[in-house]
Order: sequence, then C-alpha cells, then structure tokens
Amino acid sequence: MLPAPFLSGLQSVLGPDDLLTDPVDCYAYSYDNSRRITPPEAVAFARDASQVQQLVRLCNQYGVPLTPRGRGTGTAGGSLPERGGLALSLERMRRVVAVDPPNRVMVVEPGVLNQEVQDTAKGHGFFWPPDPSSAPYCTVGGNLATSAGGPHAVKYGTTRDHVLGLKAVTGKGEIIRAGCYTTKGVVGYDLTRLIIGSEGTLAVITEATLKLSPLPQAVSGLTAHYRDIGSCARAIAAIMAQPEAPSALEFLDNASLDLIRGRNPGMLPEDTRAMLMIEVDGSPPELAGAREAILAVCRNDGLIKAEAVTDNKALWAARKALSPLLRDIAPKKINEDIVVPVSRLPELLEGLGALSRKHRVANANFGHAGNGNIHVNLLVDPDDPAQLERAEACLDEVFSLVLALQGTLSGEHGIGSEKRAFVARELDQPTMDLMKDIKRVFDPNNILNPGKLFP
Ligand SMILES: Cc1cc2nc3c(=O)[nH]c(=O)nc-3n(C[C@H](O)[C@H](O)[C@H](O)COP(=O)(O)OP(=O)(O)OC[C@H]3O[C@@H](n4cnc5c(N)ncnc54)[C@H](O)[C@@H]3O)c2cc1C
Repeated sequence: MLPAPFLSGLQSVLGPDDLLTDPVDCYAYSYDNSRRITPPEAVAFARDASQVQQLVRLCNQYGVPLTPRGRGTGTAGGSLPERGGLALSLERMRRVVAVDPPNRVMVVEPGVLNQEVQDTAKGHGFFWPPDPSSAPYCTVGGNLATSAGGPHAVKYGTTRDHVLGLKAVTGKGEIIRAGCYTTKGVVGYDLTRLIIGSEGTLAVITEATLKLSPLPQAVSGLTAHYRDIGSCARAIAAIMAQPEAPSALEFLDNASLDLIRGRNPGMLPEDTRAMLMIEVDGSPPELAGAREAILAVCRNDGLIKAEAVTDNKALWAARKALSPLLRDIAPKKINEDIVVPVSRLPELLEGLGALSRKHRVANANFGHAGNGNIHVNLLVDPDDPAQLERAEACLDEVFSLVLALQGTLSGEHGIGSEKRAFVARELDQPTMDLMKDIKRVFDPNNILNPGKLFP
C-alpha cells in the first residue's frame, strides 16, 4: 500500500489526468509481451523531464519502486512492476523536438513511436536504422532501454549504433546529459552506450538525439529455398563471408514455414524445408552486383531454388507476424532471442533439432540470421505440467549450447525478469560485481526497476 503523503506528492507533481490509482485502471500497465502480470499500485504519465525528476525523487523519499514503461511490447518482462509501486509511463512525452537534415539528426522525447520516427525521417530522405518488427507500437525510449534491433541490423547495427546522445534522470534523481550532438566526440566516459540497453535500471531516458541514415536509392529482394536446415545454415555463413553485405538476411525453419503456409496457402512451396529472405540496398548498379554475388554463394547441394523477387511485401508481413502467430498454437511458448557467431549457425541449428528430439518439445526457429540472432520458440502446452518441465530442461541445454558456441543469451529483447536466472552463466563474477557497483552509483536506493537484469 502506497503511503498517503507519497500519493499526495504524486498529485501535486502531475496533471489531474496523469495519475491512475484505481486497480482496474492500473491493470492495463501490469503486463508486457512476456505475458506475466504484476500490477503497479499507481501509474504516472510524465509530460516532461522535470516531472520525471520530481517523481524519481518522491520514490527515493518514500522508498517506492519505480518501473519505467514505454508501450509494454517488451518480451522479457522489463516493464513489469514486479514489486508493485509506481509504473512511470513515458507514452505522453511524444514530441519530436527537432529534425535537422544537415546534421542527420532527429531529437525526440521517449514516448515517440519508432514508426513515427521513420515516417518523419522519410520526409527528409532519411531513416533511423533500428527497425524492430514492433515498430508501429513501440517507443524510442523502449528501443533505447533494450537496444532494439531488427532485420536491418545485419548491415546497419542496432540502437546503440544510432544514438548520438540522450538526456535522462538517474535513480538518484539527477538530470544528466550523455553524449553529444555531433558524430564525433570523446569527452568523458560513454554513458550513452551504457544507458542504452540498461532496461530502465540506471536512469529514465527523457530525450534522445538520434543519428539518421540516408534512405537507400533502391532495395531489392531475394529468396533462397533449401531441402534441409544444414545447407541453409551453410549458405548463411557463405553469404556473410563474401564482401557484398545484405541489408537483411532472415532465416525461417520448416516449423515457421508451415505456420506461414497454413495462413497463406500457395505463398510458399511445400518442399522447402528452410528458407532465407534476403534484401540488398544501394544504387541500382550496386544492387545488380550484390544480387549476383549473393545468389552465387547461395548455391550449394541443398538448394532448391534461389531467385530475385519483385514484390515480397506479403512475405515480409507474414514473417513479421510470426511471433504473435506462434501464440495461437502455443500460448505458453518460451521465446528466446539467442545469438551465436554466424559461422557457428550450422552447429546451433543442428543442436536445437537434437534438443527438441531429446526433450520431446516442439520448436520453431526463425530470425535475423545475418547477425546469428535466432528466435528459438519452444512450443509448450500450458495445461501439460510434464511438458512444461521438459521445456525448462530443454531451455537450460539451449543456453549451454549457445554459450559453448561463443554466443550470448539475448540479442535484442534483453534480460528483464525472464532471463535473469541465466545471466551468471554468461557474465563472470568480477564483471557482474562491477555492473552492480555501477547500478549503485546511478541508483543508490535501488528505486529503478529493482530486481531486473541480475540473478
Ligand atoms: C510482435 C513483436 C515483435 C517484436 N520484434 C522485435 C524486434 O524485431 N526487435 C527487437 O529488438 N524487439 C522486438 N520486440 C520487442 C519490443 O518491441 C522492443 O523491446 C521494444 O524496444 C520495446 O519498446 P516499448 O516501448 O514497448 O518498451 P517497454 O516494453 O515498455 O519497456 C521495455 C524496457 O525498457 C524500459 N524503458 C521503457 N522506456 C524507458 C525510458 N524512457 N527510460 C528508461 N527505460 C525505459 C522498461 O523499463 C523495460 O525494461 C517485439 C515485440 C513484439 C510484441
């Protein structure tokens, strides 16, 4: 139960429509795409950095946990108010502060949606490369806090590579400015990259200076169909080993293809067991060269066909809908986003098949193959406890396999609460201790998103 003086403090900081305390209203802020539910005791909608600062200070004064929240599309439970307290929604801070084409910069508040950034930038001939499939629904604040990425990360990188600076309120309640407005700058420690990916545990981001990239002159699509997963995995490594960088390189296994085939009859051939969706971008002459080079290395003994496709919008829409679609067949799916070096993908995919058979747990794997980032989905029936137990054992071995292949537990979704039990397998103790020390410097009273990230 929140102390009465804390509640009246909230009322004095916020506008009359910017505070929810009725449990029914608060319920809408109690879950994200992890599908776990932990309601906050109050929800505050900040309108500017000064309000954020006052809210953080109030939480420090009364020892109330504060969980920052964008639009709750995260899949790792990062925005869940696990310990109750205050959910701080940034969704009403949605001003585009500046669009500055000569400097290739856009400054935005954290509640601006990723798609709004793309649409605004497009009008000036630019785009912002981080392109999660959730772009129409997720916020820039959430993108920074998770260092989100998408299909184009293979060529352009993730959120960390496309932010010049940010403003934030630390857990102590201080307003800080990290980074700069220019594309070069080495003054002090790189707090921008530290706060990006920190999942709301160090500071609440209140403004971001985004680095824009020019829109490519042209884009072209290719698909490659394989008889088996091994030959497809070898083709991924071959594509990445040659100099023409694809702007997207997505992989779909047979279970994912079946799902698409079920919803879109006739879209994909029946004999394809694994598939690559490839995109190249650049000037028209560059495109021709890239297409030719990539098609050449796609060819191996398992290839059924590889071809240029003129219109693959429907296929991309089907690919982007895969994650929610999987919930239709397995509402309790365990959804991971592990990464391995691209050269180890054949071993990973073979190992995932073996683990699926060993534990008798169906899986569907797809994702950003050019980064070695595969969404591993263990499809579990929630009403079958024995199956759930087998899935947990399978997941444990999936993580062991990933780490043995020099991989990492999460490429883009983050740790949140879902993966924190496994973090100590990847980070050694001195490294984790240093991270916890950093947390204490930013947030000495452990107010911001307490309990997240670490086991
Ligand atoms: C269908 C679907 C597809 C997806 N595809 C992708 C994908 O391709 N790539 C990808 O990377 N992700 C993907 N995601 C995951 C998710 O959309 C991203 O992680 C997104 O960046 C989260 O944004 P959000 O506004 O919903 O943040 P939330 O889910 O609200 O929050 C995520 C984390 O950020 C913190 N946070 C939010 N705002 C702030 C702030 N202003 N300051 C400090 N911390 C903050 C929260 O505390 C939490 O820890 C997908 C999700 C769905 C449902």
